[in-house]
Amino acid sequence: MSHEQQQVNTIIIGAGLAGLSAAKALKENGKSYKLLEATNRAGGKVQSKVSVDGSDYVELGAQFINEDMIEMVRLIKDSGMTLDHTYLADDAVIINETKDEVGYINFAHHAEMLKDRSFIENHSLSEVVDQVIEDDIEVKAIKSFVAAEFTVSSDYINPKALKRLIGNITLEEDEVKYQASGPLSQVIDYLVNISGTNLLYEEPVEEIQKTEDGYIVKSKTGNEFTAKAVVIAVPPTVARRIQFSQNLKERFYPALNSFIDGAVIKLIFTYEEPFWRQIMIDGEKKNLFGVLFGEEEGVNVMESSKKEGANRLTMFIGGDKAIELARVTAEERNSFAVNRLAQVLGDRIVDYQSVEEKVWVDSPYYGGGYGGLTHFGGNFEAKRALKEPFMNVVFASTELAPAFPQFMEGAVRSGKYAVEQLLTQSYKK
Ligand SMILES: Cc1cc2nc3c(=O)[nH]c(=O)nc-3n(C[C@H](O)[C@H](O)[C@H](O)COP(=O)(O)OP(=O)(O)OC[C@H]3O[C@@H](n4cnc5c(N)ncnc54)[C@H](O)[C@@H]3O)c2cc1C
Repeated sequence: MSHEQQQVNTIIIGAGLAGLSAAKALKENGKSYKLLEATNRAGGKVQSKVSVDGSDYVELGAQFINEDMIEMVRLIKDSGMTLDHTYLADDAVIINETKDEVGYINFAHHAEMLKDRSFIENHSLSEVVDQVIEDDIEVKAIKSFVAAEFTVSSDYINPKALKRLIGNITLEEDEVKYQASGPLSQVIDYLVNISGTNLLYEEPVEEIQKTEDGYIVKSKTGNEFTAKAVVIAVPPTVARRIQFSQNLKERFYPALNSFIDGAVIKLIFTYEEPFWRQIMIDGEKKNLFGVLFGEEEGVNVMESSKKEGANRLTMFIGGDKAIELARVTAEERNSFAVNRLAQVLGDRIVDYQSVEEKVWVDSPYYGGGYGGLTHFGGNFEAKRALKEPFMNVVFASTELAPAFPQFMEGAVRSGKYAVEQLLTQSYKK
């Protein structure tokens, strides 16, 4: 077992977008740091799979952005790419498995319908939905939408915390309007280059110990790093697995314990022809954007092609259905997906050129979904307790973002925010 003692100003744990952005901000402010990554690659829930000859790629994790996400747009441009339009036909509709149009889901309106305001304090989101909405099909659509969009079943979600989270996502334009012109791994490479040799791979941190004048951060490899400050840039549910010294534990564990992991599986199908784009609904030809399955909670499929690019449909399976399907073989998952799609889009669905899948469920280092959520019974103020520094320790991850939580943009902003807080509150002391 090797032992390294390295003294720097700050240790950052985790080289996802939050950690890489914190590193960039520290470098810009002239602070020394080490960035410790558990796995053999940076990027976390951003992972591009590039073909051997480099001519094609798919995004196994994050993919879409829009121009409200200014930090990500800047990073895409700084790493030498531009924005490509996702193929979004005018008036494109979302349908369910019986080919009925799924209307716009207005959470604010539904929340207003809740007469007894205290009900929201003491019940899960699914109980609130059951209470407010009478129509069974609408109830199923909303629950499926929540599981697909937030990757956690509404049975476990704290409705008050979700309301606050949605309030922090202010989208002027469709969140899937654009994609980078190349693989997002290029953004990650750009950020990795900024850190250079300060980024160390295969250093899974398992312990943070307080010392007289700072911290010792211990990795599973036996390496130890000492610093004045620590940025913990891993999802809250993942951070819960790190051992903290007593004072940090007392401060942070109640907040960390308030989060639940998401669960998501992504399947990307590529076709010669985009045969699904026009569909007959009630005798009328309509443009199709996607399908939200009501009977299979959390399952949806959407157009994911670029305007000038391969013809792609992407299925996302979120929440409990993802947990269930993570337990079966890849062949069984594939036949689940193909059967659901054939039911709505016809037999041509089997004629795909290629399919790629990534099961994010139960990942020890990334959480499992788009991001963790505050669970029912958890403290809906948990986010606040983690994003402000305490004794020079601060958390950063998309879950804690001041804006755009659960998105890449949120991760970038939270990394920058954590460093700003350390610079104004901690380093000066
Ligand atoms: C399938 C899928 C699709 C998505 N689609 C989109 C999309 O279209 N648009 C969008 O904006 N967002 C999307 N997202 C969400 C987006 O990917 C995340 O919000 C964002 O990347 C999270 O970044 P992060 O830095 O907070 O966390 P992560 O990416 O999870 O990074 C955490 C890092 O910390 C490391 N780590 C963990 N534990 C330790 C430890 N003990 N020691 C050292 N290192 C550790 C991990 O290995 C990882 O590298 C998607 C996510 C998924 C999974």
